[in-house]
Amino acid sequence: MTSPGAQKVGGAGQRRTVALFGGTFDPLHTGHIAVAQAAQRRFHLDGIYFIPSSRPPHKSQRELTPFIHRYAMVALGCAEHAGFIPSLAEAPTGSAPHIFYTIDTVKKFHRERPNDRLYFIVGADQFLELPTWKNYESLLDACDFIIASRPGFRLDALRLVIPPEKLGRSTVNDPHKIVLRKTSVHLLTTVASHVSSTEIRERLEKKQSIHGLVPARVEEYILRQALYR
Ligand code: ATP
Repeated sequence: MTSPGAQKVGGAGQRRTVALFGGTFDPLHTGHIAVAQAAQRRFHLDGIYFIPSSRPPHKSQRELTPFIHRYAMVALGCAEHAGFIPSLAEAPTGSAPHIFYTIDTVKKFHRERPNDRLYFIVGADQFLELPTWKNYESLLDACDFIIASRPGFRLDALRLVIPPEKLGRSTVNDPHKIVLRKTSVHLLTTVASHVSSTEIRERLEKKQSIHGLVPARVEEYILRQALYR
């Protein structure tokens, strides 16, 4: 199995600017792609690692589609975009179920490529849950965050998630950036996609079309494999 940084962009010693984009991707949809494209443009990212989680801590109530299908869909969706990299960093290991925590994944990437500048991409809905994440205060120190706006979520609420002692002093008044002591949190407000994986699963259960809501190759894969029926 490949290590997280094995599918590399740039040479081994080169300092890259990369983002990690974690999720269940059940399935990958056009909202994910739009967020990644907007982040890639705005932050001049050399690569974005799409990291489907085999077992995330937050979404354990629902039975997830097997990892292999979710990874396949991520790989198909990434194939059309330069710099989008499907990652096995949170692939299942062995027979015992293993819960993956973002802090550990971020540290793993740091260890592999200590010179890289690292961002973590997350939707506003997930960032609001940050205080429930393992070692979230350390996570805020470990990498910059790119928060994608999502319809229905107020961006001013995001600031409240950050413990006051983490806040740094900002010299520039940029409404899209929250400066922390060690890192920064950037708000990506140029994307407003209503698409969610929940909606896609529901549409498929009702035998409705998902055309245009997922990349074309992902749609083809879902239909051929008869997923979400
Ligand atoms: P579900 O509907 O199953 O909860 P989802 O559509 O939120 O899934 P995830 O795989 O959980 O998809 O998302 C991965 C990351 O992408 C999360 O941080 C989520 O907030 C973000 N995200 C998903 N869809 C959008 C969207 N339309 N706009 C902005 N961010 C999004």
